[in-house]
Amino acid sequence: MTPAPVQRLCEFVDASPTAYHAVDNMAAALEVRGAQRLAEGSAWELEPGKAYFVVRSGSALVAFRPGLVPAAGEGFAIAGAHTDSPALKARIEKTVAARGMERAAVEVYGGPILSTWLDRPLALAGRVVVKEADGKLRTRLLNIIRPVGIVPNLAIHLNRDLNKGFEYNAQTHLPVLLSSELPDAGTVLSMGGGQVASKGALLALVTSELGVDAEAIFGADLYFVESQKTAIVGKNLVNGYRLDDLLGCHAILEAFSASKPEKHGQVACFFDNEEIGSRTVQGADSSFLRDLLGRICALGGATTEDFYRALASSFSVSVDVAQAWNPAYPEKYDESYAPLLNGGPAVKVNANYRYATDAESEARFRLLCEAAAVPCQKFMSRADIAPGSTIGPMFSALLGIRTVDVGSPLLSMHSIRETAGLRDHEAMSSALARHFASSPKA
Ligand code: ZN
Repeated sequence: MTPAPVQRLCEFVDASPTAYHAVDNMAAALEVRGAQRLAEGSAWELEPGKAYFVVRSGSALVAFRPGLVPAAGEGFAIAGAHTDSPALKARIEKTVAARGMERAAVEVYGGPILSTWLDRPLALAGRVVVKEADGKLRTRLLNIIRPVGIVPNLAIHLNRDLNKGFEYNAQTHLPVLLSSELPDAGTVLSMGGGQVASKGALLALVTSELGVDAEAIFGADLYFVESQKTAIVGKNLVNGYRLDDLLGCHAILEAFSASKPEKHGQVACFFDNEEIGSRTVQGADSSFLRDLLGRICALGGATTEDFYRALASSFSVSVDVAQAWNPAYPEKYDESYAPLLNGGPAVKVNANYRYATDAESEARFRLLCEAAAVPCQKFMSRADIAPGSTIGPMFSALLGIRTVDVGSPLLSMHSIRETAGLRDHEAMSSALARHFASSPKA
């Protein structure tokens, strides 16, 4: 039988095909456990030790519990992850038709392993802004779970070198095939492969799903996403869409929700747009977290100096995923620093600070793992390969807060289906629970 934490992870991943859905699900889970939703534009009154959360732009969320004593001397224990993943973003107004085959135009979001998006039944999910009957604009989440389209590869007979590597063109190869109909009698077929604009098959799909007219749709952020559910593979592997970084989001959410109030403040943050560099209003390279910590301090009666003292007393754990050792490509790793699936959370280190980790923050996370009785691994890329980056370096620089970058080991990062170890996820949640319970002071 699948253990309960794994079950919760799979349900969360399956219900969160986009950042909007992830934030909506986390907000619902926090509310069920008694956290109070606050709007950034409202006046707040905060009680020490009570849980609150704020959503920005529908795709970023910060949950927090003010500490039981003023923040200046105790600081905040912070953990952060990201809500977005690579995907094909739909250009909703544009479908192109050739000889009765209708395809929805797309743009590539982030850096997916594009070949994994092909020849798979794709679902459509995201948000749509609708002008309602009362004249007001309302944002509605859309999650068409059933497959709505597919990106077909070319038959290998027509591209015999495909397996030697192929560059997919986003404008011409990646539009998503929605249907193939024989044209109505009397319709002139576009000859010679010429393409003609259709009446908007994707728009028609969205309007029928939402029960609104096309004229009522004023904006949309929609993505073609995986339509198949998360699967447990073998004894202890989990395989699914968006594990980077829903693993981090879920581990932080579980640890924050289970935490008791402490003298220090506790903050769980979930940012959008890590995959494209985080520099958006809802990204880690924004004012969101700094604004929020400032408000918590101000409402607790802190002076400006108290605010800076609180930052200096804080510690944050940036939770993303780590490149796990893939036995088929040993030459791509430094085996001394290549984390194994189910070997425990990995501390991510880079001399050029692509990760925020330094010796002191690494040591602190190792101590948390030790206290939680879970193993801790270390990830460093080969010295001749530059690793990726994540949110840690950005928000630690913006806030002036000591930070460690960590991650659960993951195979096939940025594939439409990634693979992680089940034990790592539980171990990460346990280490983060220790983090929220421990004083963040140095
Ligand atoms: Zn990530």
